Amino acid sequence: MEKIFNNTQVAFALKSDTELDRAYFLFKMIDNQPLVRIGTAVTNFAIKANLPVEGLIRATVFDHFCGGVNENDCLSVVDKMYTKGVSSVLDYSVEGKEEEEQFDAALEMTLKTIEFAKERQAIPFAVFKPTGLGRLDLYEKIGEKQTLTPEEKAEWDRVVARFDFVCGEAHKKNVALLIDAEESWMQEAADELVTDMMRKYNKEKAIVFNTLQMYRWDRLVYLKRLHQEAIKEGFYIGMKLVRGAYMEKENERAIEKGYPTPICESKEATDKNYDAAVLYMIENLDMMSIFAGTHNEESSYTLMKLMLERGIKNNDDRIWFGQLYGMSDNISYNLAAHGYNVAKYLPFGPVKDVMPYLIRRAEENTSVAGQTSRELSMIKAERNRRKGK
Ligand SMILES: Cc1cc2nc3c(=O)[nH]c(=O)nc-3n(C[C@H](O)[C@H](O)[C@H](O)COP(=O)(O)OP(=O)(O)OC[C@H]3O[C@@H](n4cnc5c(N)ncnc54)[C@H](O)[C@@H]3O)c2cc1C
Repeated sequence: MEKIFNNTQVAFALKSDTELDRAYFLFKMIDNQPLVRIGTAVTNFAIKANLPVEGLIRATVFDHFCGGVNENDCLSVVDKMYTKGVSSVLDYSVEGKEEEEQFDAALEMTLKTIEFAKERQAIPFAVFKPTGLGRLDLYEKIGEKQTLTPEEKAEWDRVVARFDFVCGEAHKKNVALLIDAEESWMQEAADELVTDMMRKYNKEKAIVFNTLQMYRWDRLVYLKRLHQEAIKEGFYIGMKLVRGAYMEKENERAIEKGYPTPICESKEATDKNYDAAVLYMIENLDMMSIFAGTHNEESSYTLMKLMLERGIKNNDDRIWFGQLYGMSDNISYNLAAHGYNVAKYLPFGPVKDVMPYLIRRAEENTSVAGQTSRELSMIKAERNRRKGK
């Protein structure tokens, strides 16, 4: 496969010299593990103590990884990226809420983003997180088949109703809807619910997309089983494939509670598992749509190669590549330049509510071997290219 991801001129065409310098400075900071640890602790404390740190956060991590504090803020970024063929997925990244009003607010926000997506070609998907619409502990209880109190039963009915409403609106408006995956101990209940939504709304094509975290060794078998159900019952499968963002938490909990970790035994095993799922979905594209959410260049090349070998058009509407805003522009923009479908998650929300997302990005860029150095080397190469070095 032709290697296209090293073209930094294409990757950073939208970044001014100053923006490039800021990105360089940011990734340099994130590269420093102790600094990220201290920075995270100090920031969390400062926010809780209501210290005026929002300006600082905005000027650094927030503006690099987020589109703004509300959905309208994001539109200028959406339009700008789309001039280069890169689409957006508006991601309301408020996390860890527990109250019914907050779930209803997240529901409203998701409906708004579905409406935005309906009106704009540059926004091909809407997205939400299961714990945005219901309590994590409740998903866990359902997954473990625990007996619910009447109050909990009513609470779960409301979660189901929220899912059904959002998916129904997406179906009515013909907007594909991604549903994120989270911790394994809440995921079983979410999977059942999302599969029900696929049964109901994916009769003509994939509108509802679940997410498979391929760092879990059981997910390929899960995908194959789901495929059999889909054949039997006659629905399309929409699936976002990711490696998974909660590895440390998963391993810690498994040790603490004394059960085998759901995570693959090594990074290589996760990589293999990811690529095997990509292959399986491409082999069954007649019934499946795939959103490959990854910053991994090899997995992206693997998918491109499979498409080429099978004579699948670069812009086949059943295949999307996805990256997060602020990361791996070399993949996103070069894919778009070659005519592939590509969308970046564009997170938004009030600064303090988006902090868990930002901390995950900072930690991921610190702990994931290679990600920061990849970003830094690309930025460095582009700075040198612009200086004529
Ligand atoms: C568009 C998009 C949407 C996303 N949506 C979700 C989502 O809904 N849910 C979610 O959980 N994450 C989501 N993510 C994050 C994703 O799961 C990864 O954390 C992130 O993309 C890094 O993985 P990678 O494929 O980009 O590449 P890489 O940098 O090649 O892989 C890093 C990943 O490999 C895995 N890994 C690392 N070390 C080991 C090890 N020792 N053993 C086993 N596995 C290991 C981990 O999953 C780690 O994150 C999303 C990412 C993108 C780009």
